[in-house]
Amino acid sequence: MFLAPGAYADDVELSQANELWWTGNIERAEELYLELSDVTGSGKRDSRTQGSAPGTGGAEAGRDRDPASTEIEARLQLAALYRSTGDLISAVSQYRILEALMDTPGVTVSDGERAERLYIPLGESLYYLHRLDEAEKALRLALNLDPNSPAALFGLGRVLFSRGALNEASSALHRSASLLPSFPGNYVYLARIAERQNSGEEALTQYREALDLDPQQAELLFPMGLVYESLGSFDDAFRQFHRLRNMDRDNPLVLARMDEIRPLLGAEEEKIIPVKTLGKFKPTLKVPGHENIPVLRIGLNTSAGGRGIPMRSMTFVADGPFRIVHGDSVLFRGKEQVEHRVSIEEGAAVITVADAEHARIPTGSFAVETAREDDATDRSGSIIIRRVEFARGYAWSGIEDRQYRGRIVARRTGKGFSLINEVNLEEYLYSVVPSEMPISFPEEALKAQAVVARTYALYRKTTVRPHRTHGYDLCDGQHCQVYRGAANEWERTIRAVDETRGQVLYYRSALTSPLFHGNCGGHTQSSKDLKGWGEVPYLTGVLDASPEELFPDSPAALEKWAKTAPEAYCSIEPFNSGPEYRWFRLIPADLLEEKLNRTESVGAIRRITVERRNPAGHAHRVVVSGEQASLVIEKEHEIRRFLGLGPLRSTLFWIETKYDAEGHPEEFLLFGGGWGHGVGMCQDGAGGMASLGMSYRDILSHYYRCTELGRLDY
Ligand SMILES: [Zn+2]
Ligand SMILES: [Zn+2]
Repeated sequence: MFLAPGAYADDVELSQANELWWTGNIERAEELYLELSDVTGSGKRDSRTQGSAPGTGGAEAGRDRDPASTEIEARLQLAALYRSTGDLISAVSQYRILEALMDTPGVTVSDGERAERLYIPLGESLYYLHRLDEAEKALRLALNLDPNSPAALFGLGRVLFSRGALNEASSALHRSASLLPSFPGNYVYLARIAERQNSGEEALTQYREALDLDPQQAELLFPMGLVYESLGSFDDAFRQFHRLRNMDRDNPLVLARMDEIRPLLGAEEEKIIPVKTLGKFKPTLKVPGHENIPVLRIGLNTSAGGRGIPMRSMTFVADGPFRIVHGDSVLFRGKEQVEHRVSIEEGAAVITVADAEHARIPTGSFAVETAREDDATDRSGSIIIRRVEFARGYAWSGIEDRQYRGRIVARRTGKGFSLINEVNLEEYLYSVVPSEMPISFPEEALKAQAVVARTYALYRKTTVRPHRTHGYDLCDGQHCQVYRGAANEWERTIRAVDETRGQVLYYRSALTSPLFHGNCGGHTQSSKDLKGWGEVPYLTGVLDASPEELFPDSPAALEKWAKTAPEAYCSIEPFNSGPEYRWFRLIPADLLEEKLNRTESVGAIRRITVERRNPAGHAHRVVVSGEQASLVIEKEHEIRRFLGLGPLRSTLFWIETKYDAEGHPEEFLLFGGGWGHGVGMCQDGAGGMASLGMSYRDILSHYYRCTELGRLDY
């Protein structure tokens, strides 16, 4: 937010006001915008603008620009400020003044701009206040000026829906969807229209359209389940509720639905939830010279927090001879391609093959290790474990068979056992790189990911040691790095790992902690800006675009930034796969209220506002004002966890509230950008940079300033 030399005094003050809003000094920002809007003058402005503005110089500096354009700009920002604080009535007043101002002779505002900056936000504000007549009028004015505005059509569609004009609403929303097919909001409203018209099948089609665009929209699963129920498709209903339960575990509404329809299911519960099975072993490639490579212990089958979910039994099969050891003694030798089962019975681990008991391990941990008969230390074989649960708490959670290399330790816990896979760092990366980045990404991006994943794993193993009390170095989920085992190894990513063998990222000759995330939304975050993260010299925010691109600097510009898809490295298709760069959530107030009140006593929600933003635009302080109490949320992961039924993709969002006729919130609309915390390397951006011809070294030095590549000695 710097000023070009020769900037007008008013621009200096406008940017000061913008900065105040951005950093949470909302009252001061409001005052300054109001002063700037007051061009007719109380005399105060004349004296104030006589001096040269700070930071400017030259003969042009310090003079005012055209007063009307200053007033328009100031009032537009002021209106956006009011909308950001939930004061829609004041926002509407500002737009009414702007309407008159823009009609003043001598003022030229293009039709498109008038639609976008005046009539659409005015219409939406009125709609959110449930003043439907006025809202419809404003949105129709917007459409007269810009007939192909998807935002105006989405606004009008919603107003007409609220008025019960379902057919007209449907045609507005269909048109909006045809102009902007990637926006899920239209489909959600089309689904609601279909529900009102009792066409359940059509409602499902529309909900599916929305969810196909972004499966993260957990709150859609609930109405979808209800529609399936109303059609008598209980298995399908159960599947939706089950998915929602995976994302929001203790949701009583969902658990109640599941309990009620459980007796009506046509198939066993286990069969309704799809499991990905592995028919055969994927051949694995042994990394050369593995004797000197550090070995990692990876916790398998872990929860969102990275803790092993205790298992009471496991079924597995090996691709070669294997043995089960307990301490130094070999308890059992098993054959290849035969299913074995270990289960905890009366406190002992019992090994059975085809229902016949073969061995018993009374206490302590044990390990399953592949071992050739001629060389017991050879761990080149693999083991497939059946039905491993993964990504609990996320939209993509599920159950699948997993193939692991080498040796699996079962660590006994009170209730059962948890699993640890021992694997060397390079072979670990063979599986992690494609789990963390699509294998279709350009080679240089995959190489950057390999260096980052290698450094990050070692840093966690040696420095942070987040799982030292759990008995392993890293977990297999998002908490550390996603590790899906040997069935997820591919030629392209093996090459990226081999070509960067041993390469790690240093800052001043110390190993770094190179954090990364899916998509930054356009600007990465500095770690120091996230509450509780602390300052790390190489984790500073960068504009994730070529230097000519502009980053928003005002409330209105931020709103537009969040609602549209400006150019950035991480907006380049196909590396940004749809919802990662820009996403949308429509969250019913009653569902969110129930969720929040499960752990926080806020009572009925009155308002949700972002009170302060980080330089990258991400929300830093969110306030949920309730009838009973206000909840201030500042931690990045808590903002994401609290504001949706399933977690939000990021904290970069613009939030709006729709109120009902009585003034109670009906739903919250979040226009968001990015996926993940936004700190360090933006993976989609790395893909975009590589597609523009940049190397993995360019990528690493873009995201991690002042770091250098080093090489481990193996
Ligand atoms: Zn972890
Ligand atoms: Zn990015």
